Amino acid sequence: MFDTIIAKIYSRDKSIYKYLDVTADAVAIYRDTKKLGEPLFSFKFANEEPAVRPDRGKPADENKPLAGIKILLDPGHIGGRYSKMEERHFQWKNEPPLKEGTINLEVAKIVQAGLQKYGASTLLTKRSVTPVTRKDPLDFIGRETEFYRKHEIRARAKIAQIFKADLNICIHVNAGPKDTPGEPWTRDNRLVVFVHGSYGADEIAIERQRFELFRKLLEQSHDFELRAAMILSESLRKATDLLPVDYAPSPYHFRVNENLFVYARNLAANRIFAGPTVYLEPYYINNVTVYKRLQIGDYDGLLEIDGESHKSIYREYADAIIEGTLKVFNSEANQE
Ligand SMILES: [Zn+2]
Repeated sequence: MFDTIIAKIYSRDKSIYKYLDVTADAVAIYRDTKKLGEPLFSFKFANEEPAVRPDRGKPADENKPLAGIKILLDPGHIGGRYSKMEERHFQWKNEPPLKEGTINLEVAKIVQAGLQKYGASTLLTKRSVTPVTRKDPLDFIGRETEFYRKHEIRARAKIAQIFKADLNICIHVNAGPKDTPGEPWTRDNRLVVFVHGSYGADEIAIERQRFELFRKLLEQSHDFELRAAMILSESLRKATDLLPVDYAPSPYHFRVNENLFVYARNLAANRIFAGPTVYLEPYYINNVTVYKRLQIGDYDGLLEIDGESHKSIYREYADAIIEGTLKVFNSEANQE
């Protein structure tokens, strides 16, 4: 179990082993690769494999199949007036800009309402297009990434740690490579879903990341996280008809199994959020049809766009998350 997850999922090039002494029944973790003196921490392996998750059986109230389940929704990025700073701002000529943080929040609110109807207790990491971190962005001029990435994501991770969700869902949209240089557009449109893993050797060399790797390992969230990612990727694929993102081989990500949509990757959010965390990234915002659909906004029913009838893209995305989440937690649906 230890070797399976650590060597196959988290540290595929095995650079973490430079800090460890692993024996048949225990592992010792050292501060550095010299492994001198007492280890920082040691633990013994359990004799039994942990259950992926206790079977919930049939819900007591059939209309509330998610009763007792806690879902944290994390709409990625800040949006609003921060979208340019965080480089999540797409504007074509004089048209209104698309701001990823704003889009993600709109989707997350629809998901929240839907999940609550099924009895889930839900929390959004944020409810407006303002930062969660209390730090002052003016203190970070010239090093803005520290503000909108490090501090912002750590502030959200604190919420995750307090809420202790059964599943954290990070909601994002993607952008694709341009078809023609100088023009922002692409005809391509794809989906990727991330679980945590695939640390590069340089990331393993950072003490804090090693600590966070072990926190992830010891919370034993991988198996459930992967199952949730597979189920959610399938409901998103069905709803959107998107193709899988096809990354070139890299030490920083890999496909975990035969599912073409699910990659392991070491992202700040899926590393430092406590508990199983799936990170969704459907749609290329610079695909012409996606762009139009995002600009139109949310609406009821269907609308013809570029010769095809579409649900609002916000609802299409949200409904797929709701449907997938129902399947993740409904044991009967999992036995199909
Ligand atoms: Zn994003």
